Parts: sequence; C-alpha cells; structure tokens
Amino acid sequence: VTNTPAALPSRLSQAAIPEEILRILRRLKDAGHAAYLVGGSIRDLLLGKPAKDYDVATSAHAEQVIRLFKRVIPTGIKHGTVTVLMGPFSVEVTTFRGEGAYIDGRRPESVVFLDNVVDDLARRDFTINAIAFDPIERKLVDPFGGEGDLDARTLRCVGDPKERFSEDGLRPLRAVRFASVLDLQIDPPTQAAIPETLGTFDRVAQERVREELSKLLTGPHPDRGVSLLEQTGLLKRILPEIAPEWLSFTLRRLAAIATELPLRLAALLFEASSAVAESALQRLRYPRKVIDAVAQLVELKDLPFSRFPDDASVRRMLACAGRDGIDALMALAAAQAQALGDQELIRSVANLRTRCAQILSHAPPLSVGDLALSGDQIARVLRCPPGPRIGEAIRYLLASVIEDPSLNRADRLEERLKSWRPTAG
Ligand code: ATP
Ligand code: MG
Repeated sequence: VTNTPAALPSRLSQAAIPEEILRILRRLKDAGHAAYLVGGSIRDLLLGKPAKDYDVATSAHAEQVIRLFKRVIPTGIKHGTVTVLMGPFSVEVTTFRGEGAYIDGRRPESVVFLDNVVDDLARRDFTINAIAFDPIERKLVDPFGGEGDLDARTLRCVGDPKERFSEDGLRPLRAVRFASVLDLQIDPPTQAAIPETLGTFDRVAQERVREELSKLLTGPHPDRGVSLLEQTGLLKRILPEIAPEWLSFTLRRLAAIATELPLRLAALLFEASSAVAESALQRLRYPRKVIDAVAQLVELKDLPFSRFPDDASVRRMLACAGRDGIDALMALAAAQAQALGDQELIRSVANLRTRCAQILSHAPPLSVGDLALSGDQIARVLRCPPGPRIGEAIRYLLASVIEDPSLNRADRLEERLKSWRPTAG
C-alpha cells in the first residue's frame, strides 16, 4: 500500500477533481468514514484522460450515506450502493464489500460489507481497476500494482484469472474490451484463462454482453478488439453469425469505418443477410432504433456498388436509403472499398458521394411527403376511397417523380393519374 504523498503520480496530483466530488468525499470523511475514488475514474486519470464518471467506495453503510446527503437515489441498497446527486454529478457511492461464493457464474450468492478498502479492491476484476485514491489526504491505495501495469500497458486479473473468470463470465469480455479500448496487452496467463472459462461466459445475460461489445466496437481499435474476441473463442459465442473466412475483410472494414455504433455493427455484420443481422442484434437486446438502422444498412449495402449511369439511378438509391440514411450508407460503402483495397472502387464511391450531395442540393422529391399531390387529392382525382388502390397510385407517382423531378407539379401529376391503370382489381 502506497501512502507517501511524494509517491503520488503527477497525473493524479495534477488532476482537477471537481469540487462537487471533493465535497462528497469530505462529508463522508468528516462523519468519520473512509472514502475513496475507485475504479474507472482513477484508471482514466492515471492514463491522462478525463474521467467519465466518478465512483466512490466508503466504509459508511448505505443508510449512513443516505442520512449525510440531501439528494440520494437508493440504487442498490442490498449491494450497498446509493447514488448521490451533487451539482451536475450523479455519483455511485458503494460500501466496501466483498462477495460470497458465485452460484452460477453470474452473481454472488451473498454480499458482505467490509471495513477496509484493500479487501474491497480485491473483489475487482483487473489490477488497473483496483486502485483507490483519496484526493483529500492525497493517498493512493494500489495493493495489486495497477499503476505499474498501466505504465507497462498490461491488463491483468486481480488474483487467479481462471478463478476470477469462473466467478463472473463477463470478465473475459471486459478483458478484451479494456485491452482494445485502452490499447493494452493482455497478460498471457489472463488471456490463456479465457478459452478455458467460456462455459461460464455462456451464462452471462445478453444485456451485459451487449454493453461491453458496444464499448469495444466504439473504441479507437474495434478491429483489434474483434480480432482478440476471435483469438480467445469469444466471438463464436457472441456472434456465431460471423463466418471465420470473412474475418480479415471484416477487420479491415472495421478499421476504416467511423465511430457510430450502427456503422460499426453494420461493418461487423456486413456479410450477413439483413434478416440474420437483425436476429443477432435482437438476441443481444439492442434497442429497436439501432437494429433498424443496422438492418437497413446491411440490406442496402450493395446499392452503392451498382452501376450508376444516370441521375435517376442515384435518386432511386437516395430514396431507398433516405436523406438521413444516405451518409451512413456511403460511409459503409467507402469502408468496404477500403477493406477490399480496390483503388478504382474507392474513387468511384467517393464520386458517388459527391453526386449524392449535388443531387440532394436540388431538393428533388424522394418520399411520399414530397409529392405535389396529397393522398386525399389523389383519391379525389381517382374518385376512389382511401385504400390499397390509392397506395398503389402513390407508389406509381413517387416512382415517376424520382425518375423525372420536373413532373412534381399538381397539374402534371393529375394528368398522369388520368392515364394510370392499377395492376390489381
Ligand atoms: P468504464 O470506463 O467503461 O465505465 P469502469 O472500469 O468504470 O469502465 P464499470 O463497469 O463502470 O467499469 O465498473 C466500475 C468498477 O467496478 C470497475 O473499475 C471495477 O473495479 C469494478 N467492476 C465492474 N464490473 C466488474 C466485474 N464484472 N467484476 C469485478 N469487478 C468489476
Ligand atoms: Mg464506470
């Protein structure tokens, strides 16, 4: 345990920890409790990155924490966690705890509250996540050498990797996530334990898997992350849909695509059909909005590679993808061209992108809402009640104006309707 202010790493001593966070720690300490910042925030500060959210570990029990603060949410009293709201921050404050035996590789049978921070740090997954810092007394508690591992850019389990991965099957995936997001090497014994404990991984809730997968994919090295997933056997368990023979192209596509989650998921599932991509993402409990965006991208992925001899074909593609979807579709196409390493294809995708922008600048009609006639007006011209026939007429008119935008005037559309015959009935 390091306890000498002189030994404090400069990144921590210089870190600007917000006044609100210090106030929480001070209030706990003034009431006679121990209180530390722990976990991801200290790791990120040591890496010279801004902390995302601050977690506090304390000797105080949840009821004591609740009494000390005005705005508190009882997030998980059974596990000793409450959320303290202070200014713009919501801070998880958790009683020092250890965990009883794990019953099913998912959750501990019991939680025991402890009085010292070192035992609390011992239950944490990796040495780099098992560092505590008291910024008021400027005291760093790092019993497992997390700071040294960060310096050496090593990801290592606290304790025996096989044991720790068998307790909670999510940890192997977290290992790969941290290694790829933070650009760390996984310590060989830690990495070797992953294939040995995949049975436990299979019991983890899909929501937890999804959260880690999303963080891995939206990090700076998604290709390295997915490659590690493959090497450790995790990829087959998470997404059996991804055929191993396509992996090298998939990795190159991932390396070439922008950060947004739907784009990265589409780059990952590019070789699948949109139905397969959709069911994979449903299994992982992705929100509907994400699933729809990815399924549409995968569905339309080949469009930018078809021949585009004329503006009408480009407008048809724009109508399919939608004004909001076209940028993503073109980004995916550009990444695919990069992955294939085909210079001519790269140029033609870039040209198509420019043409899309040019054509869009003329604000052509591309969707039903852009038509110069409303559904009611169409029904009046056809003397026909709203129904499938009107739907067919709308599709016909839309196809006509996408082909030739100059037709999009009420009089011209009426004219066309008069000579139109529905295909059915
Ligand atoms: P992020 O920057 O993504 O939030 P984090 O390290 O803060 O990363 P959290 O999931 O927020 O990750 O967890 C906070 C801390 O709780 C971790 O730093 C770690 O000490 C501990 N922890 C989280 N999940 C586990 C787990 N599955 N097993 C053991 N310890 C864990
Ligand atoms: Mg966190």
